[in-house]
Amino acid sequence: MKKDITVIIPDYKSPFLKTVIKNSLLINPDKIIVSNFKTRQTEQIENEFNDYKNIEFLNFNERKNPGDYRNEGVKKTFTKNILFLDSDIRVNSNSINFLKQLLEKGVEDNKIYWGIYSKFSQGIFSRIQNKILRYRFSNKFFKESLDKNRPYCGQSSHFIISRKTFNKVGGFNPYLRIREDNDFCIRSSILGVQHILDERFEADHLKYFDLYSDYFQKPFHATKVKVLEPNIFNKPNSQIGLSLLLSWVIFPFSLLATLTLFFLNYVDLSNFFIINFIFFILSYLFVPKKIRDDLNFSEKISLFFVSPIIGFYFLAGGIFGLIFGLFLEIKRGAVSLMDYLKILFKVIVRNGNPIQIVNFITSRCNLRCHHCFYKNTLDKKDPGEMNLSIINEYTKNFGSVLWYALGGGEPFIRSDLYKLYEKVETNCRPKVFTIPTNGWYKDKIFLSTLRMLQFSKGKKPIIIQYSLDGNKEMHDQIRGKNSHEKVLESLETLKNLQKIYKSLHFSVITVVTDENRHIYPELIDDLLKFETNQININLFRYGTLDHPPLPSETIHKYKEAVERYESFIKNRKMKRYSFLGAKLMRLKEALQKDLIYEVAKNDKFVTPCTAGTLSYVVWEDGRVNACEILPETIGNVNNPIFPKNIFKSPKAKELRNKIKETKCKCTYECAMSTNTFFSWNMTKKLIWSYMTNRV
Ligand code: SF4
Ligand code: SF4
Repeated sequence: MKKDITVIIPDYKSPFLKTVIKNSLLINPDKIIVSNFKTRQTEQIENEFNDYKNIEFLNFNERKNPGDYRNEGVKKTFTKNILFLDSDIRVNSNSINFLKQLLEKGVEDNKIYWGIYSKFSQGIFSRIQNKILRYRFSNKFFKESLDKNRPYCGQSSHFIISRKTFNKVGGFNPYLRIREDNDFCIRSSILGVQHILDERFEADHLKYFDLYSDYFQKPFHATKVKVLEPNIFNKPNSQIGLSLLLSWVIFPFSLLATLTLFFLNYVDLSNFFIINFIFFILSYLFVPKKIRDDLNFSEKISLFFVSPIIGFYFLAGGIFGLIFGLFLEIKRGAVSLMDYLKILFKVIVRNGNPIQIVNFITSRCNLRCHHCFYKNTLDKKDPGEMNLSIINEYTKNFGSVLWYALGGGEPFIRSDLYKLYEKVETNCRPKVFTIPTNGWYKDKIFLSTLRMLQFSKGKKPIIIQYSLDGNKEMHDQIRGKNSHEKVLESLETLKNLQKIYKSLHFSVITVVTDENRHIYPELIDDLLKFETNQININLFRYGTLDHPPLPSETIHKYKEAVERYESFIKNRKMKRYSFLGAKLMRLKEALQKDLIYEVAKNDKFVTPCTAGTLSYVVWEDGRVNACEILPETIGNVNNPIFPKNIFKSPKAKELRNKIKETKCKCTYECAMSTNTFFSWNMTKKLIWSYMTNRV
């Protein structure tokens, strides 16, 4: 058999692991990776296969979700193709023949090859269950899904995919304990991957039938995820079919209905029994013929009794899943409401606690843009990245915030970016989370963003801000060769995720400088065609308060650009935001630009600055400043003794006083955003602009 295939076996204490590995060797793969939870049993099995140098056990000490085990397995392989095999699935002669032919022919990219269970099973109930599953994953439902243009959810117990396609899809959702297979299938369909079902690709299912896990837990989770992530899990067919569904639920329904009628004296005892007897018979007759034909006599008799019992479990699982899903949604809403109240409290009291954080998480960057404020730090030997446990510690002290913005360097250069997001999201639950990027690392950006969306279940707005400083020629001149093309590629790839996650938004950040000012405002027209939700037009600024004035031509072009953008917002040409307060966000954009223009052009004090009161900057080495410009540091979150009262320390108070008394002014966009919303003298303007429909 032609090689270039790895078998990946995710395992959590399966009693069949040894058999599964033994049979996998018959495929003669380049490698077998057992991505397993380490137990004494797996240690013994590993020892037994010691002589096989192509078998690797990953031996995790913590329990992982099944998708995570599979993803970890993929990280260890370099073959072109991957066969995923659950640890209770045995390849048999049919599967081996199928694999042989497929590998000879070549596994194509952009395709997933699914199979079905064989008729083999241990025990009568498992045989019935496997035949039901053979039916549910058969060509009947595959074709039905294609006809209805809905995703087909394949049997993830055994399937083949090229590594390239697996990575294109973004692997499995590591946060799902169950239904990760459906999520994978749905996402791959949306990303344009073709699904192929071949019924010759049969494998033996060794697992024993378990009424509770198969018919209570699975419907429980299936319903729960439909409530929690309807955008994903409501897309495919249920792959049960009306006939099979009726065979399960018709008797439980009749029993419940007649019991109620009996207690209400509408039905007497004899009618109660007659009606239920009829429905009991009917429940068997509704079992699809294809399943019944596959069963022998004793299996048919067993199914006759087991069908209604399955129905009770199935209904109970579904109902409890629905209730639990709704409960979680209500809880999420309540937590979010509390967060808004806490943020409001911070705004009113203004005792130094932040509602906005700009967190620089790395000083590494692959580019050297002409206008970069941080050029001096980019070449530092030590990138000064704080580890996740420190980030976890200090974000706990920030409490709920309105806006958490990352900065760099290039944030996506950190491969643990999505884990960093987990900490921020858990501890601060920001209402908006923004990440700027130069767009260079297309795959990293895709994977990290996907994981962030998966972690937040697509409920929390995440804005990816791409930098674009001109057309190809100008952008590449400022940022480096091919950087324009990279942005477009990344944006194009990531936009596919918007089809699944409505909370994903994009913006383009463009900086008006002396070098590129001549291309504005026309560039704004060009940027419109990228269909982002926002265009952030920034005016070049220096990194210190003390600086030469900007040329009036640059400021003038900035004004023209923001006016052009405002007309686009007014005429509803920008793609809409899907979150609460979107209209206010648009107003903020317009008013913030007014303030920046006024300061830049007339060097005028326009509003008291909230930096150091409501917003802070945390640098990659842990320093905490009021903003990116003032050099005063109020503390360092990287200290061995964590400064819990960092925002209320004498240093912090002193800095707040200084900012207030000196009537500090600048064009720093992040602080200007908070100022627009939360400087009292701006409130009147904000309300007026809202009433007069400025945008
Ligand atoms: S991408 Fe950003 S951090 Fe990197 S050099 Fe350019 S402006 Fe600086
Ligand atoms: S105006 Fe605000 S953001 Fe600007 S330098 Fe002063 S404190 Fe910092």
